[in-house]
Amino acid sequence: MPDKRVRVRFAPSPTGGLHLGGVRTALFNYLFAKKHNGDFVLRIEDTDQNRYVEGAETYIIDCLNWCGIAPSESPVTPGAFAPYRQSERKSLYRQYAEKLVMEGHAYYAFDTTEELERNRKEIPNFQYGHAYRDTLRNSMSLPQHEVDALLAAHEPHVIRIKMPADETITFNDMIRGQVSFETNLVDDKVLLKADGMPTYHLAVVVDDYLMKISHAFRGEEWLPSAPIHLLLWKYLGWAADMPQWAHLPLILKPDGHGKLSKRDGARLGFPVYAMKWFDAKTGELTPGFRELGFLPEAFINFLAILGWNDGTEQEIFTLEELADKFSIERISKAGAKFDFEKAKWVNAEWIKKDSGEKLKDQVKEVLADKGVKVIDDDYLITVIELVKDRCVLLSDFYQQAGYFFESPAVYDLNAVKPKWTDVKTNFFKSFITMLSSVETLNAAELENTFKAMAEEQGLKPGDIMLPFRIMLVGGKFGPHVFDIAVLIGKDETITRIEKALVAFNQ
Ligand code: GLU
Repeated sequence: MPDKRVRVRFAPSPTGGLHLGGVRTALFNYLFAKKHNGDFVLRIEDTDQNRYVEGAETYIIDCLNWCGIAPSESPVTPGAFAPYRQSERKSLYRQYAEKLVMEGHAYYAFDTTEELERNRKEIPNFQYGHAYRDTLRNSMSLPQHEVDALLAAHEPHVIRIKMPADETITFNDMIRGQVSFETNLVDDKVLLKADGMPTYHLAVVVDDYLMKISHAFRGEEWLPSAPIHLLLWKYLGWAADMPQWAHLPLILKPDGHGKLSKRDGARLGFPVYAMKWFDAKTGELTPGFRELGFLPEAFINFLAILGWNDGTEQEIFTLEELADKFSIERISKAGAKFDFEKAKWVNAEWIKKDSGEKLKDQVKEVLADKGVKVIDDDYLITVIELVKDRCVLLSDFYQQAGYFFESPAVYDLNAVKPKWTDVKTNFFKSFITMLSSVETLNAAELENTFKAMAEEQGLKPGDIMLPFRIMLVGGKFGPHVFDIAVLIGKDETITRIEKALVAFNQ
């Protein structure tokens, strides 16, 4: 029999911003699909209308696009298995739930919310399952004629799976190996709600089957649902087509204690979302990695090595390399601690690795946000090449490159003024005269002349190098100061020295 075509899916619920863990799940699915020349499907699991958040679907799609891991099939780029939003597939699910009822694997339950509430209050550890099912209002406990009457009267009801008693259910997880569950510990989950919408459990199984999903990779938090899904695959007669599963380990708080949450980000000062998320309900705007100045290549690189490695020491990977080297089996079973410093290091490595040409549009955006206008792209590229090794985040380009486009608005006067003397003023005046007389600037020659002139005037070059830097840059940073002078040019260097001398002598 030929191997089944690889088809994987990322199946988020549109309930808010896309958390790091969600993007990593999407990424691992994408990489696996690429590696095996398969399809990467985005399916929107929006059956829980109470948790639905306006704008979340578009946001998820934008995030995947920004990360460079766009799905091959999605609600906006539908393929042969449309629709890709579960709410639009609503009419499809009932028949499967009814089939399960007919065959004795599920049943109608007529209990009202109040009745269930009362049971939960009165019975410690109440579970709608084999222990209590016979005492509740459902088609397992009521006589058939009563059930028929209730159904004929359109009495509101749900359909629940009938979990078998005393069974052990086992499956083979691609990361965890053999995993077992005791059915007695799992309750009779609702499959179809009173409004006819399926729950996640039914919809995920039906859609994975109908969409011919070959591998289902999802977060570890879904592991407790696996026994219900396994039984549904079996009861619906599809066991032979069941996808291979892998439950991806959690991303943990930096100290390793528990799952990384949105609140941890706010508390510890780093983003947990890929891109900024605006919650229309609360009016809250949460910034993401993109806004902080992460390159998408770095962001996905960092996510990939959070709990996965290729068996070597390599840590910087392109998306193509990742797709080539990726294997589910090399994902570690243990949760991966989030390390923001490491994330920044990966970003810095990517900024170093990328060319000025590749970075120019993103840097232009950073500068434009601060009101710095770039006219000449070639000049910008040269500047980027000169300063990129000093940038950890894209936003650092404002500090590291902004002064190549406009003279500093403020000076670090504390670094200059206490040791400022007339001798130094005179030195820079004669330096201006010298500059005016040369045709073109050359960094090495300029440095030699600067040093020679300093010594002639009884100054140590080291004592005036820092003031010169502050004149051109505004602060104690930046590449070699003579390189800066050459790049901004003779006239601009003179203007900046003159302007700074006024400030230094005030
Ligand atoms: N809708 C689930 C989620 O929000 C999908 C879980 C799965 O992949 O089975 O993550």
